Parts: sequence; C-alpha cells; structure tokens
Amino acid sequence: MSRSAHPAGPRHADVLTEGHYSAPPADLNALDPKVWAQTVERDEHGVLAVGGIDVKRLAEEFGTPAYVLDEDDFRARARAWRTAFGDDADVFYAGKAFLSRAVVRWLHEEGLNLDVCSGGELATALSAGMPAERIAFHGNNKSPGEIRRAVEAGVGRIVLDSFQEIVRVAHIAQELGTRQRVQIRITVGVEAHTHEFIATAHEDQKFGIPLAGGQAAEAVRRALKLDGLELIGIHSHIGSQIFDMSGFEVAAHRVVGLLKEVRDEHGVELPEIDLGGGLGIAYTSDDDPREPYEIAKSLTEIVTRECEAARLRTPRISVEPGRAIVGPTAFTLYEVGTVKPLDGLRTYVSVDGGMSDNIRTALYDAEYSVSLVSRSSDAEPVLCRVVGKHCESGDIVVKDAFLPGDLAPGDLLAVPATGAYCRSMASNYNHVLRPPVVAVRDGEARVIVRRETEEDLLRLDVG
Ligand SMILES: *Cc1c(COP(=O)(O)O)cnc(C)c1O
Repeated sequence: MSRSAHPAGPRHADVLTEGHYSAPPADLNALDPKVWAQTVERDEHGVLAVGGIDVKRLAEEFGTPAYVLDEDDFRARARAWRTAFGDDADVFYAGKAFLSRAVVRWLHEEGLNLDVCSGGELATALSAGMPAERIAFHGNNKSPGEIRRAVEAGVGRIVLDSFQEIVRVAHIAQELGTRQRVQIRITVGVEAHTHEFIATAHEDQKFGIPLAGGQAAEAVRRALKLDGLELIGIHSHIGSQIFDMSGFEVAAHRVVGLLKEVRDEHGVELPEIDLGGGLGIAYTSDDDPREPYEIAKSLTEIVTRECEAARLRTPRISVEPGRAIVGPTAFTLYEVGTVKPLDGLRTYVSVDGGMSDNIRTALYDAEYSVSLVSRSSDAEPVLCRVVGKHCESGDIVVKDAFLPGDLAPGDLLAVPATGAYCRSMASNYNHVLRPPVVAVRDGEARVIVRRETEEDLLRLDVG
C-alpha cells in the first residue's frame, strides 16, 4: 500500500510526470480508443467523425470552439455503472462534472440518480424532470434558501457537512412539517490522487466533519436526537482522478469503524454508506482507468469484508462518479489560428478558445492529448504547446504535444476527454463567449447547450 506524499501537493488534481513527452508517438494519425469517445473514428479522408458526423461538418454548422459529446457513449457509460452496481446499490452522477437538461433526461432514462451542490444545479435537475427522491444535495455552505427549496422539493437526501448544518436542516424540515433523510459527510483522513493516497492526510479542509477526535461520532449523536432528521448513513469522498482502489479500502475501513461505534452506542445500524466519486479516466495514453464492473466488485468486496469483521449488516452502498461517466464522452473542437515556431524551443499553436473553456490545465497542471482532426498528415512530428486566445501567458490547453509539422491556420484540432469539468467550469474571461455543447448520435447532431452570444453578455451588464 502506497503511503507516499503526493507530488502535486495539496492540489486535488492530476499527477504530472516530467519528461513524459520526450518521444513523439509512432503514428500521429492514430486515435487511442482509451482517450476518445466510443464512436470516434477517422473516415477515408482522415477526417475525424463521431456519431457518424464528421468534424468539418460540425465546425461548419455549429462553429468552433465547441464541445462535441457522444450521446451513445454517455448512455453506455451511465448504463455500465448502473449495471455494475446492480439493484443493491445506487449510482449518483455528480452533476458538477457537467449538467444540462438533456444530460438529466439521459440519466433518468438510464436509471441513475443525481448529485447536485447548488440551487442552480437543483433547478436544472428538477426542470428536466428528475424525480426529487433521486436527487442528493451536497455542499459545504448550502444557504438556508437552498436547503428550504431542497426539502420542499422532497430531495432523497441532504448530505450534512457541518455541525451548524445539522441544526439548520433539522430546523427547516421541522418548520416544513417533514423529516428529511440525511447522510453525514465525514473526513476519514485519507487523501487520494491518481496513483497515490495518503492514509494519514490532514483533515485540514473545508468539507465534512473529521472522524478524528470523536467529532463524527458527536455529529451522529446530535443528528439522531433531532426530530426533523432521518439519519440514513455516512458519506465519504476522498479525492479525484483516482486509479488505485487502496485509498477507498482505508476510507471504507474507517467509515465502517464509525458505523460500529454508532451501533455500540445507540443500538442503531445505519443502513447506507456513500463512498463518493473520484474515479479516474484516461486523459492521455499513459492513464489506465478501471472498468465500472471492476470498481463495483472491488468496493462491494471491501465494504462487505469490513462489515463482516465488525459484525454489521452490510449497508446499501452508493457511489458518485462524475468524471468517469461524462469525461471521456466529449472532445473540444478548435480551429487553429496562429502557428508560431520558436527556434530550439517549441511551436506555439493558438486556438480559438483556451482557459475560458478548459481551465484544468492552468488550475491543476492537468494533462491532455490533442490531434489534428480535419485531415490526416504524414508530416514530421513537431513539439507543440496548444494555447488559447486569452491575455494571460498561463492560458495553456495542452502543455506538451506532438502535432504534424505542416499544421496550418484553419486546421481543426480536437482535445479529447473534455466532458468533465470543462464546460461546467467555463468562464467569460476576456468576454470570450462560452462554447456550445453539441450532442451527436446516429448521424444527427443537436445543440444541448447553445453558444453564448454578445447579447447574453450585454444582457447581464445593465449599464
Ligand atoms: C466532485 C465530487 C464527486 C465527483 O467526483 P468525480 O471526480 O467527478 O468522480 C462526487 N462526490 C462528491 C461529494 C464530490 O465533491
């Protein structure tokens, strides 16, 4: 079990391996199925197509930049998670990864539940017809107004994040004459990242109630006493972009330890345990994510084993994958504007978007892949950096990438695995307009989130 410190420090992000792009890949035209959505292929002219539609047509019809989302792939991944966990567990899609009304409908149809963490996400979920009992409400600072709306709507659970919130939710539920189903989010002192986890992580973070010092046990004690609350379980979320299951093992061990304490003190066996999300995806060919069925098998085994050892009935498990469902299903389509070779260094390739549509590279040093997709090319590979159009030198989309030496303005590039935390974290920096999300399926493309317009910008600016 690895217990080493994490090279990226306190960032909940990806690990950068240095010198990783020292050699160009054998074939720049090849598309690694690990990083591309399922229906992506190159046609006979070398043009990339997804859902049966080629990117030149998409660019013409919808403009660039655009997020292009493979609906069949989204549904297949959602279904794979649902099937892997079966009827004795619940899968909650983490809406913060990417949420739109179309996505809510797909999730509903595929039998998944939904995590929201703000009034806006709740409104989106409800407006697209997600039944409230299938919604979980998260967040470390839910406003009283948000709590009231969630309780009134009848959300299936609210995940309590602090001592003050225990009282706040109980009070609002009582005022509304109801009992709200709740879980308590605890921090178990495990911090997991891509390939390492720290079992003795500081609980020095804003989320959850620390297990340490008996604080989580005290939270349970208080929640059990309040008439407005029905405490159904304990929640733990240990990190993001995780490939190694051993962090979950330690977390489950500690959560089950708390369940045992609760049973011994109160004679109550809490019926549910939520292990959060954070499962990793392939951003580059070096990443090797697990399949949902492997993850389900592993998590179920861990919890069952820990409960048997503690002589507890195995609680109902829930998980909250966000990135692992939507991440791989979309790519960002850009047009090349300027190509600037810097002798002896690298070539800077500027595209028509940047940190406003993908902040992850600037924020987390995240790694991405990129390919020329409007044609194939036999030109020699050149070391490039794909950058955006913002007035900021940190405006980098792909830090190191080999692209064909004949790359020219007007070519289309695509950055795969941008389905999660790109549109949802997009900004208007430099008053750049946020790109649309175009869903493709069976030879048809439709806009599910339209491109922002200057009118949209000016509508907010009331002068
Ligand atoms: C962010 C988050 C998730 C989803 O994380 P992914 O890395 O997208 O799977 C799930 N649960 C909670 C509580 C979160 O904060």
